[in-house]
Amino acid sequence: MTHAGIELGGTKTVVAIGTPEGDVTEEHRYPTTTPEETMATAVEWLRKRGEPAAIGIASFGPVAISPAHPDYGHMLDTPKPGWSGGPILAPLAAAFPDAKLALDTDVNAAALAEAHEGGAAAGMDDVVYITIGTGLGAGILTGGRLVHGVMHPECGHFKPVRAPGDEAFPGVCPFHGDCLEGLASGPAIEKRWGKPAAELPPGHAAWDVQAWYLAHAVLALTAVVSPRRVIVGGGVSQAEGLHGGITRILRKTAAGYFPQIDADPEFVCPPKLGQQAGIRGALLLS
Ligand code: ADP
Ligand code: ZN
Repeated sequence: MTHAGIELGGTKTVVAIGTPEGDVTEEHRYPTTTPEETMATAVEWLRKRGEPAAIGIASFGPVAISPAHPDYGHMLDTPKPGWSGGPILAPLAAAFPDAKLALDTDVNAAALAEAHEGGAAAGMDDVVYITIGTGLGAGILTGGRLVHGVMHPECGHFKPVRAPGDEAFPGVCPFHGDCLEGLASGPAIEKRWGKPAAELPPGHAAWDVQAWYLAHAVLALTAVVSPRRVIVGGGVSQAEGLHGGITRILRKTAAGYFPQIDADPEFVCPPKLGQQAGIRGALLLS
């Protein structure tokens, strides 16, 4: 019997069949609309390929991934219109009652995929995956297990030390203003500099500010969960030289305290799986 994966993204969704080792046999990409319609499209596509033995779902958040949560399998309060409380697992359970379902966050799934064959942290058990796009978040693999907690980690929502000269920027997080996401996500960059991140050239002052915030995020995460490697992905991470900039500030700020930072020139590195990380991670969850 086949395994299935679903990657639910804020703008697009991917459904695939493949192996529990993460290899995709066939996939379908389509725009994310309402929860009901988006899940129905996945169900319909999978049905034509037979009943899956297991389905791994990698979802944008916040989402109730703990079976102990009263809203397990549903989206939690999200700014994405129409998605608060949206059912994710129920439509799959109704269509495929015998399939084993596994739900996790998109960033945890990406961390898992990058820690497997072909990934930037292949064979490593202690990995953090940070994504910088419309939002900013991180997935955490520790001792080979994904971290969940009561809800799931929301690494974009702590307050970092302000970058020199950036003290006046109020930040864009609707909840906290100047949390990490409020200061360093794609929309934060656009608000601060009046241009989308993709249009800011290498050498622009924006990239020093960006590297500062990411370096402090990596330092905080390293201090708390002691990863072997930190992968920094997402649209904004494509800026030329960003990983090197983060590493320079990180090494200075960490002051030689964490051996894995100084020993590994790739401690902060880009992802290797690109667009495939989420769906590969979903299959690995299955
Ligand atoms: P989403 O989080 O919606 O999936 P992405 O991960 O693609 O989106 O991130 C979108 C952000 O990435 C935008 O702020 C965009 O300006 C920025 N971006 C896209 N390409 C680049 C690039 N080459 N360099 C810097 N920033 C980029
Ligand atoms: Zn916040």
